[in-house]
Amino acid sequence: TDQPTTDSHVAVLAFPFGTHAAPLLAVTRRLASASPSTLFSFFNTSQSNSSLFPSDLPSNIRVHDVADGVPEGYAFSGRPQEAIELFLVAAPKSFREAIASAENDAGKKVTCMLTDAFFWFASDMAAEMKATWVAFWTAGPNSLSVHLYTDLIRQSVRVKEVDGCMEETLGFISGMEKIRVKDTPEGVVFGNLDSVFSDTLHKMGLALPRADAVLINSFEELDNTLTNNLKSEFKRYLNIGPLALLSSASQSDTTLVDDPHGCLAWIKKQRTASVAYISFGTVMTPSPGELVAIAEGLESSKVPFVWSLKEKNMAQLPKGFFERTREQGIVVPWAPQVELLKHEATGVFVTHCGWNSVLESVSGGVPMICRPFFGDQRLNGRAVEAVWGIGMTIINGVFTRDGFGECLDRVLVQDDGKKMKSNAEKLREQAHQAVSERGSSVENFKGLLEAVVSTLN
Ligand code: UDP
Repeated sequence: TDQPTTDSHVAVLAFPFGTHAAPLLAVTRRLASASPSTLFSFFNTSQSNSSLFPSDLPSNIRVHDVADGVPEGYAFSGRPQEAIELFLVAAPKSFREAIASAENDAGKKVTCMLTDAFFWFASDMAAEMKATWVAFWTAGPNSLSVHLYTDLIRQSVRVKEVDGCMEETLGFISGMEKIRVKDTPEGVVFGNLDSVFSDTLHKMGLALPRADAVLINSFEELDNTLTNNLKSEFKRYLNIGPLALLSSASQSDTTLVDDPHGCLAWIKKQRTASVAYISFGTVMTPSPGELVAIAEGLESSKVPFVWSLKEKNMAQLPKGFFERTREQGIVVPWAPQVELLKHEATGVFVTHCGWNSVLESVSGGVPMICRPFFGDQRLNGRAVEAVWGIGMTIINGVFTRDGFGECLDRVLVQDDGKKMKSNAEKLREQAHQAVSERGSSVENFKGLLEAVVSTLN
């Protein structure tokens, strides 16, 4: 019954904010090519879809737009997470409607729901549809565990007096011994515990043990203790990453990589482990003051750099910065990050610690300077520094010219940095092992394929 059948129809439900939909699409592509007789219907907002496509798609993936939940004529107030909340509130209905119409068009009932893990309501939806539920957690194992154990954490940490417990650890959760209360995302024990978003994550934690499988873009060996803990909580816990080591571009020559600003040509000319690559992902930009501090820190340290910075922020850099650093580095609106992090000339990644970024850095064996902002970023940064020993948090928590300069020196020059580099190299090797023949992630992918294409009845 685990053989792919022409009857299987997988509904893939994407979360259209941050870097969630892209890794889900990458997983969908791998599944679609491994099981050509299965139909994959990919549901996402038109805006997010347009950032992912056009790209060549196998014929067994069909893309559908779902409503973004923004009422007609709605005026945004500018509240943080407003668009996310509107989307989440409308999501069960939006997806239900889109799925019904795709089932109709294809003449095939959905047999599996492969969803972003945020969509806890998929548990009931799948049950109603007599389909399986496979949930994709697009961040790391530490944040997954924080949401899974939210009730336990709230009981153990005195939420009302949380200010006094910030330095305490989550040692009561196996594998979280080095994580402190203050590293947790807002909405777990501090911040707004009742927002739509924290409520979503709380409900997700309660629902995930009912999923037929929980998959994650990581590899088991990165966090053995936590891996074993999570395996004991879920029906199947499948680490199938790092996806960055599996994408087709990374396996072929770099001439296929999208690099309109010539970053790879530039980095080729640099010395081994000398370059700082700087990026804060797709959502976050540091304050104008911090951007200036980064620029000044780079100038005074003379470290060669590639800086991915949104076009609109470029005007905020100090006057004359581009002229003075013309020989030293390049600032581009988008960089081929995965390729840069794999390049031997990259010596340090200055990052906001989004999960994709952290794992891509691990995959390239590049130590990090961490400047986390919100959500799971502090947890990821803490693991980088204290669990894996492959980086450090920015001195003072924010960029200052001198603090940043000192971090660059520590990581690129001092003995600490050499230790970080050798730890990062070890993890890089383990990551490569995981995705090579008979590696843990390859075996887990087979399990995923089985979970996704087999039908319940
Ligand atoms: N990224 C990239 N080029 C850039 C900036 C970002 O390719 O110039 C990619 C990066 O490789 C990663 C993603 O964007 O896969 C950022 O994901 P992450 O989870 O780190 O952060 P988020 O965007 O969700 O904040």
